[in-house]
Amino acid sequence: MTDERSRFETRLTHLGRPPVRSHGFVNTPVHRGSTVLQPSSQARIDNSKRRFERVMTYGTQGGPTHYALEDVVAAIEGGTHCTIVGTGLAAVAVPLLAFLKAGDHCLMPDSVYGPARGLAEGMMTGWGIETTFYPPTTTAEALAPLFQPNTRVLYLESPGSHTFEMQDVPALAALAHARGAVAMIDNTWGIHHFQPFAKGCDVSIQALTKYVGGHSDILLGSVTVNSEAHHLKVRGAASAMGHYASPDDCWLALRGARTMAVRLKHQEQAGLEVARWLQARPEVARILHPAMPEDPGHAIWKRDFTGACSLFGVLFQPRYTEADIFRFVDGLTLFGIGASWGGFESLALPTNPSVQRSVSPPLPGQAVRLHVGLEQTADLIADLDQALRLLPR
Ligand SMILES: *Cc1c(COP(=O)(O)O)cnc(C)c1O
Repeated sequence: MTDERSRFETRLTHLGRPPVRSHGFVNTPVHRGSTVLQPSSQARIDNSKRRFERVMTYGTQGGPTHYALEDVVAAIEGGTHCTIVGTGLAAVAVPLLAFLKAGDHCLMPDSVYGPARGLAEGMMTGWGIETTFYPPTTTAEALAPLFQPNTRVLYLESPGSHTFEMQDVPALAALAHARGAVAMIDNTWGIHHFQPFAKGCDVSIQALTKYVGGHSDILLGSVTVNSEAHHLKVRGAASAMGHYASPDDCWLALRGARTMAVRLKHQEQAGLEVARWLQARPEVARILHPAMPEDPGHAIWKRDFTGACSLFGVLFQPRYTEADIFRFVDGLTLFGIGASWGGFESLALPTNPSVQRSVSPPLPGQAVRLHVGLEQTADLIADLDQALRLLPR
């Protein structure tokens, strides 16, 4: 374990809890409310001008529980300001709409989280914002010709949703800046293992629903930036559209954050153990996991990340049909079938039905996305072993 990772555990224990704010209580309590009483009519006007600077004037601008979580997320990603919104998808939509307007152009990787593609191809098109999809593993040289004079956002996600391609973020973010565009990344897989601002990004998105929540019982998203100007843009857009997150969910996310380092450390190792076991199986063609030395994105992962989470893909031999793979997944007893990830429990999801591609080749076979939880790893492997026997010989 590197120094940076051990420091992270200490910081997660102490971040976002200045004692004065909570009258000495260890974790920030839930502060609920719509009305915030103001000391005078003039103070109300003055305070309202500073509402994006945590001067509380109305519940929609957030309160102490939101701010505590914002401080935790901004610190773990190395940003200066964070805005909490109701879901991870809202955290994707808010900065896209903050930085793009009619007539602008956006670049998105082909491996992007499906609903982000849906937003770009649907509502954003309706508002006059054009999006071009690019191959996720592109070099900066190959991406350069896709920039237009009106390109304002380069969207990144590394590794990609479902297919786990690694992106050369520092090179691509530098290209975006040279072309006057903002580099925006979905860092949900990276969590604290990838430091988006140190690698040249301007905006970082996280679905806190995943490992920060950690218990599959909340939805929450964050948008982190590293400048006051970008903060005002993001906070202004979230406020204009009425985005808000429940303080109860923020409180649960703060609770989740306190144990996240321990959970992640266990799940990273358990995930790799399961991945290595699967890699040796004759039914499996390849593991889609950048922390595996055989993965084509491993060199980038090793250069840019300090660790991994426990979400990865399993690409099966091409002889298996979708029906075979459904039988395998349905035969698992410890892995639930469901969307989302980052909780304490293991999940399996057939990948191909969710993968959409416009400029890169489809997966060369059936795939399954696995999320490895906190169960005993030997039990998970035994479950996979019995379900693999359901595949045709
Ligand atoms: C889950 C997820 C989101 C969306 O989060 P929700 O809270 O479920 O809306 C965004 N990006 C990635 C990469 C995700 O996996």
